[in-house]
Amino acid sequence: MRAATIAVLAPGLLALLPLAIAQVYPVTQGKTYKFEKVADGVYYATGGFGSNNVVIVNDQDVLLVDDGTTPAAARAFLDDIKVITNKPVRTVVNTHFHYDHTDGNSVFGPEVQIIAHDYVRMAITTFDVLNREPFITSQKTAVPARIDALTKQIATEKDTQKKAALQRDLAAAQTSLNQLKEIKPTPPNVTYSSKMVLYKGPREIQLLFLGRGHTGGDTVVFLPRERIVCTGDLMESRLAYMGDAFFDEWVTTLGALKNLDFALVLPGHGAPFGDKGLITAFQGYLSDITKKVADLRAQGLTADQAATRVDLTSHAKDFPQITGPGADARGVRRIYAWMDERGKK
Ligand SMILES: [Zn+2]
Repeated sequence: MRAATIAVLAPGLLALLPLAIAQVYPVTQGKTYKFEKVADGVYYATGGFGSNNVVIVNDQDVLLVDDGTTPAAARAFLDDIKVITNKPVRTVVNTHFHYDHTDGNSVFGPEVQIIAHDYVRMAITTFDVLNREPFITSQKTAVPARIDALTKQIATEKDTQKKAALQRDLAAAQTSLNQLKEIKPTPPNVTYSSKMVLYKGPREIQLLFLGRGHTGGDTVVFLPRERIVCTGDLMESRLAYMGDAFFDEWVTTLGALKNLDFALVLPGHGAPFGDKGLITAFQGYLSDITKKVADLRAQGLTADQAATRVDLTSHAKDFPQITGPGADARGVRRIYAWMDERGKK
């Protein structure tokens, strides 16, 4: 199914437009995923559960940046890609090890190179990723809790229409639970440590490790000719999960990201953006939360108490998901652990 082209913006205009104006790209809609054509052969894929992915269609084959939250999600993604190309997927880049970027890996055969930083292979093979964060609270306990809550709601709902809607939600949640059971954590079969460059016809695709930050091994995928960078969760257009972060190094790594010559960021969550000012704003947020949590810790608060108290509302203008004091407890616990690792007081 091909949707109508909505509008095309000259790429040179991207950098001139203010952040607040959402870009409009030609859209092709699959069953699950929406593909926005941001450059020739480069599509930003959204609408799946979990991360946003990137599809790069080359002369002979296709490269994917991240592949979905479950094997079922990856299969839906691969089916949908057929609406934009019939070339075979030969390369997958995992931007980092988290479930929402790698749990589709198991659907690919040996003809597909799954490439990531060395740390991703180490993490998936040694961290017991299905029994640690962020999988536990985001998936493992969240889906059964949703099933419980919906079952209780259905039992007391009198309105037939509302009850039918709840039953549909329950069926969807049960499908999700079955899909989680199919996950087989699958590490990349090609790794690198600082930089890898792929040449696909005229297209140059750089895989860059710019330093630790969001995790110990995030890759950014940089297309120098198109001036596009795919940042995974190292830089989202919103606040990223911080439960595996290295905070001061993250600020430095984002500085290295800003030094790349790009006009467009395709993030792992949120929406494409072109303004490097948003990266500066996120650097400010990271420095601020680290300092404020350290102060609360010095006052004797536990990490969970600090998570309810830390006030980052001054960053709400850049990150509107901040609606009051408090921050994700998993990130604040990580700041405490990171301070312990570094022997900080
Ligand atoms: Zn993610």
